[in-house]
Amino acid sequence: MIPANFEYYRATSVDEAIDLMVEHGMDAKILAGGHSLLPAMKLRLNQPGVLIDIGRIDGLKGISKGDGELIIGASVTHHELATSTLISSSLSLISEAAESIGDVQVRNVGTIGGSLAHADPAADWPAVLIAANATIDVRGTDGNRSITADDFFTDFFTTALEDNELITAIRIPFPPDGTTSSYQKFMQPASRFALVGCAIMVTQSDGVCERVSVAFTGVSEAAFRDEGIEGALLGKALNEENIATAANKAAQGMSILSDHFASEEYRGHLARVYAKRAMMAVRTT
Ligand code: FAD
Repeated sequence: MIPANFEYYRATSVDEAIDLMVEHGMDAKILAGGHSLLPAMKLRLNQPGVLIDIGRIDGLKGISKGDGELIIGASVTHHELATSTLISSSLSLISEAAESIGDVQVRNVGTIGGSLAHADPAADWPAVLIAANATIDVRGTDGNRSITADDFFTDFFTTALEDNELITAIRIPFPPDGTTSSYQKFMQPASRFALVGCAIMVTQSDGVCERVSVAFTGVSEAAFRDEGIEGALLGKALNEENIATAANKAAQGMSILSDHFASEEYRGHLARVYAKRAMMAVRTT
């Protein structure tokens, strides 16, 4: 359980971190909270020769209010997200998800940017950020660009990040009045990673769903938006009959993971159950 030797650099700015990535190429890895990278290094599944620590870069810290949007720095920890009153008052699915991650140690040190870059298929943030219609800001040698959460998670542990790009922030539009949101997950009892996690955000007006956003994690190789459920709810009342119909569409047409934790059939079943729980939660909140 001891990692191979590596050189350690502590970057003081985003540009310095990018310069270090360019200088050391494929041998270098960014170190944020280290709660995904270091376990992989201890198991020798990952053996970078150089670690670039971004934990002390001020520009990657903090949660703030922008023009109609919430801005979360890449180095913000799960604990900071779980305890932010700015977030709990407007985007309760973020608070719920943050509270459900790992244990106190993981939440105190693990970061949202690290989780997104790692793109574990069972991680919570990918589904939550897709449902929240988030945008991920990144910076590389060609400057800044923004990627929607829908386009960010491309495959198993794979993202749209290019070489030498760093996630700098996550931006989430504040939802309109009448919006409720929730994150419901069936967790692996030891790690608390999602065997299935369903994130939902619904805006209701005149008794019907005017805007619906639903996404899953844990179900397939990468988190995904569930357009089947969204289509089934749009323009409809959130009553038990419509919720049951929409839940039956969960993960339809997706390739569903099967492993020693849960078979394909069981995960498919959980997706329908947790979709229903998520819809019931926004109906009553
Ligand atoms: P690191 O481990 O430092 O980095 C992870 C990867 O991302 C590395 O490849 C690194 O180079 C890259 N990276 C980091 N930051 C950036 C950046 N800004 N830009 C570009 N690349 C970057 N997660 C869940 O979602 N739900 C859980 O229930 C859960 N339970 C856990 C339980 C345990 C016991 C442990 C150890 C982890 C658990 N996790 C869970 C994962 C945890 O949330 C990690 O904190 C997270 O996945 C990675 O964040 P980090 O800051 O630790 O990143």
